[in-house]
Amino acid sequence: MNTSEIAFERRPHANLVPANERAEQLANPGFGRVFTDHMVTIRYKEGVGWHEAAVQPRVALTLDPATAVLHYAQEIFEGMKAYRTPEGGAALFRPFANAERFARSADRMAMAPLPERLFVEAVRQLVKADRDWIPDGPDGSLYLRPFMIASEVFLGVRPSQEYLFAVIASAVGSYFKGSGNGTVTVWVSDDYCRAGPGGTGAAKCGGNYAASLKAQAEAQAMGCDQVVFLDAAERRYVEELGGMNVFFVMDDDSLVTPPLGDILPGITRESVMVLARDMGLGVREEPYAIEAWRADAASGRLTEAFACGTAAVITPIGRLRSKAGDVTIGDGAPGRLSMRLRDALIGIQRGRTSDPYGWMEKV
Ligand code: PMP
Repeated sequence: MNTSEIAFERRPHANLVPANERAEQLANPGFGRVFTDHMVTIRYKEGVGWHEAAVQPRVALTLDPATAVLHYAQEIFEGMKAYRTPEGGAALFRPFANAERFARSADRMAMAPLPERLFVEAVRQLVKADRDWIPDGPDGSLYLRPFMIASEVFLGVRPSQEYLFAVIASAVGSYFKGSGNGTVTVWVSDDYCRAGPGGTGAAKCGGNYAASLKAQAEAQAMGCDQVVFLDAAERRYVEELGGMNVFFVMDDDSLVTPPLGDILPGITRESVMVLARDMGLGVREEPYAIEAWRADAASGRLTEAFACGTAAVITPIGRLRSKAGDVTIGDGAPGRLSMRLRDALIGIQRGRTSDPYGWMEKV
C-alpha cells in the first residue's frame, strides 16, 4: 500500500471534556496549556514502514527507560495553526510547507522520512476530530504540534530503527502577554550561540531549543521577551530570535532579513517576503551585523524591526538591549510597515481577505 494513503483507525473516546468546561478553557487559553481531546499517532519500523495510524484519545505515552529519544535526543517537531473560517469551518496555513520542513528535519536527524501527504492528512484528521477546540476570539487559533521521536529500546549510538509520529493540538491566544504598546524588547546573547556551520540550526529538533533555554532565561532576567542569537563563527551577525525570525525595515521602504543557513527557515519569514515584494517593498536576504543594528537604530536609517513566526505572527520590536547598552527602534512604538504586513498576513490566515497565493487549506 502507498503509505500516504494509509487508513486512520478512529478509536472511541469515552470521556470528552464537557462543552461547558471546554468553553471555560477557551475563554482565556494563553499559550500551550490548553490541550484538546484527541491525538494522532503513527508508528514506523524498519522493514515494516509506516503503520498503525490512529486518531485516538489524548493519553500519556508509556516509554521504556531505554527508549533512544530519552538518551540521544533524536527528535523533531513542527508548529502550525488551524484557524476558524468566517463560515465556521477550519483552515490550515501552508501545511505542506510544514510537511516539507519536517521531512528536511527528519533527514538531518537521520530519522525515517514521513511522506508529506501523510503528515498533512494526520494534521487534518486531528483538526477534524477537535474542531470544537478552535477558539473564536480575534487572536485565537488551534496550535498544532506534530512531532516524531526515536522509539526503539536500544542504547547503542546509531539512528533508531523505530519511530513514533504524533500530532497533538493546543488552543492558543497571543504568544506574547503584551508589554503595553504591542512591541517586544529583545536581548542580545554574547555568551551563547544556537547553531553553527554544519550543525542542526536549520532543523526543527528539540536539541536546538534545549541549547537556547539558558540564553532565553538570561534575556528574561534582563526584562526582555526574546533572545537574539548571533552567528557562532564571528559572534557578529544577527541570526534569529529564540523562537522566531527577524526582519529589519530600512529607510521606510525595504526589508532586510538574515540569510538561510544556520537559522530555521520560517514559513512566516518566507510568507512575509512574498507579501512585502507584492507591496513593492525591496527585500534582501543578507547578513546584518549587530553593530549595524545599533548604529542604524541610532541614525534613524532603521525605521522598524519585527519578529515573525507561527506563534508570534508579526510582532514589532521596540527596543534592543545588550551588554553594550540599549537602543530604541524608531519611536519605540509598532511601525507602520510591520503592522501593514501583519494585517495582510492575518487577513489571509483568518479568511477575511482573498488568498491570492493559495496558502489556506480547508479542513
Ligand atoms: N526560528 C525559530 C528558532 C523558531 O522556533 C520558529 C518557530 N517555528 C521560527 C524561527 C519561525 O518559523 P515559522 O514561521 O515557520 O513558525
